[in-house]
Amino acid sequence: MKKFIPVIFLILTSLAAGSVVYSQDANGGLLQWDPVEGDYQHLVLRGSQVEYDADDPDWGAVFATIYSDSAGVFPCSVMIEGAFIVEPGGCISCQLCIAACPVGAITMGADDIAIISPGLCIACGLCTYVCPVNTIFAPSTRTHFALFAVSEEGTEIFLQGIEQ
Ligand code: SF4
Ligand code: SF4
Repeated sequence: MKKFIPVIFLILTSLAAGSVVYSQDANGGLLQWDPVEGDYQHLVLRGSQVEYDADDPDWGAVFATIYSDSAGVFPCSVMIEGAFIVEPGGCISCQLCIAACPVGAITMGADDIAIISPGLCIACGLCTYVCPVNTIFAPSTRTHFALFAVSEEGTEIFLQGIEQ
């Protein structure tokens, strides 16, 4: 029980400071952020090993789209359940990972970059073996996250970020 105290303390202090907090265990992790207010369509959560660029809408790989509830309130946390992630800067669009994935969790997204659906990925790791440029990573290797809001016009607005 003692070992959870620093994590809880970190979450409380960081949220008070207005940031995103990520805590991780062997099965994935929990990402928390301050309440988001605004008339947005939805939120987009991106994760990547590279430095994020708040001005670049193509930064990173989307691994969660977050919708408000029926009252228009956005959730303040999301579970990341061990899904693997493609680092888009390295992807050469060979699609070998799509053929290898046993559950159909990988599709080709914008600019022919592979995207892994976190809701489908069972974290088997097969895609990492076939990728010729080693650009697919286990969740424990994620180091950066950013939260974007999507306006009614479809424009992405950077909200918060974290370096793990
Ligand atoms: S880790 Fe397995 S389930 Fe997840 S995307 Fe790769 S091949 Fe598919
Ligand atoms: S195997 Fe690697 S390079 Fe090929 S599409 Fe998948 S992520 Fe991109």
